[in-house]
Amino acid sequence: TRDRKEVRDYIRTIADFPHEGILFRDVTTLFADPRGFRMAVDQMIHAWAGQQIDRVVGLEARGFILGGAIAHQLSLGFVPIRKKGKLPATTIAESYTLEYGEAVVEIHDDAIRPGEKVLLVDDLLATGGTAAAGIRLVERLGGSVMGCGFVVDLPDLGGRAKLEALGMDVHAICA
Ligand code: 5GP
Repeated sequence: TRDRKEVRDYIRTIADFPHEGILFRDVTTLFADPRGFRMAVDQMIHAWAGQQIDRVVGLEARGFILGGAIAHQLSLGFVPIRKKGKLPATTIAESYTLEYGEAVVEIHDDAIRPGEKVLLVDDLLATGGTAAAGIRLVERLGGSVMGCGFVVDLPDLGGRAKLEALGMDVHAICA
């Protein structure tokens, strides 16, 4: 075969973004490549093959790109979790702590029906704070998160352990 690149090979690392000392994993190069993007979406779907999913929920902003593609491929609806103040209708909110300060994420309060099985999607798992807030939002609406899918897991930051302690099935394509 003429192309042996893996998903990880399409991701570049940018030093000192957004702050000095941070090695930022830039997935825009993965999303921009037709084979890379296809591979990432296919591998995320593959992880949940055979499991019943009713709804795909994506975390702003890169989780929208992946989650939209996954939902379309599975013929499911897509629901966004957005940063505070972006969603137009009635929302519920959850806050979580960041390195400096706190962040708030919201979901429309009619976006998930009780009993729905949800797949939560984002590009990268670091401390797990964002995903855990997303899980709380879905669960407050009566949904059950049957899995969390990421392209990248940075295991040293503890996100996987945090989500698994919540009973989550966590899948990431690469570390
Ligand atoms: P956490 O809440 O798990 O600490 O951080 C994960 C969130 O921050 C995700 O929404 C993710 O998009 C973003 N994030 C944190 N670090 C990086 C990074 O190095 N690269 C990318 N693409 N996103 C990051």
